[in-house]
Amino acid sequence: MILITGGAGYIGSHSAIDFIKSGYDVVILDNLSTGHQKIIEKLQNFAQDKKGNLVDFINADIRDIYALNVLFNTYKIDAVVHFAANSLVNESVTNPAKYYDNNVLGTLNLLNAMMKNDVKKIVFSSTCATYGEPEYIPIDEEHPQRPVNPYGSTKLAIELAIKDYAKAYGLKYTIFRYFNVIGADENCISGEWHDIETHLVPNILKADKNKVFSLFGDDYDTKDGTCIRDYIDVVDLAQAHTMAYEHLEDSENVIVNLGTGDGQSVKEIFAAVEKALKTKVPLKVCPRREGDPARLIANTEYAKETLGWSAKTPLEISIKNAAKWEKTLQNLNTEIKNPGVKL
Ligand code: UDP
Repeated sequence: MILITGGAGYIGSHSAIDFIKSGYDVVILDNLSTGHQKIIEKLQNFAQDKKGNLVDFINADIRDIYALNVLFNTYKIDAVVHFAANSLVNESVTNPAKYYDNNVLGTLNLLNAMMKNDVKKIVFSSTCATYGEPEYIPIDEEHPQRPVNPYGSTKLAIELAIKDYAKAYGLKYTIFRYFNVIGADENCISGEWHDIETHLVPNILKADKNKVFSLFGDDYDTKDGTCIRDYIDVVDLAQAHTMAYEHLEDSENVIVNLGTGDGQSVKEIFAAVEKALKTKVPLKVCPRREGDPARLIANTEYAKETLGWSAKTPLEISIKNAAKWEKTLQNLNTEIKNPGVKL
């Protein structure tokens, strides 16, 4: 059985889909602070359709040591795929305590419960935010790590703890550093669903005449003046986690970037979304957002070398699926707001 922490969230739920598709039973641990019960329901329905994989759900917090120990005593967990975390950069600057508490302390509890219960395999969801302002592009895994916000610092602190636990206690790990994750599974079981949406693609998709899309800065030193990012499809990304799990037993501990190796500007993404929607989206150019580097692009050679993994999904498909999910989400929201009774 695989334990997926944060499995009711965006990336964790896509990882759950991939594990289910690959025939694994999973137990999801999530406190639903940013994840959604509805996603759990949809995962369980999907698993049932797939003929009976088990998808159990434990509504608990990774800071709850008692709950963690009960979980490890109840289930025979082979590995932990750890997504549970807070991940809003701005919030981490104004409320670092929350980030150190949830991300660092929560993960230490999880690691300690794993060690206590002899669970020695982890796949950890880290981020390119641990690199900070890039010194060169594309960014490889040897790039210095100098995070420029508490979110990145907490993920780096966890990476360090995992490495130390590996040396001392024989923990086996794969650490993934994600670039910009976009898209949704084609069946719309899940997708980006944040109460506070800060990400580019969903913000363009949500824009209308009452809510104009804000483009943060068109005066960067890039081809069209807007920031360049490496946009990786969430389904491709999720697959890497299953592959990593399947390699954990017999491979070295590795730290791997997950991106496409290609960069798109904000304007290019905006144009691609307009094309997918076949409509004009209202846009206003705003000042730069603090802490946004001009360029972030992954060097993806090591992912190919170690896991034989590379991104497959074309950008247009990621955007098409994200748009399809956005529609699904609007209906889902209505369902939840108006559960109603049919008379
Ligand atoms: N961005 C934007 N408007 C938005 C959200 C994002 O112009 O409403 C820009 C942002 O400044 C950055 C890029 O889109 O250059 C990607 O931002 P996102 O928040 O999606 O990911 P990040 O790179 O910050 O992790």
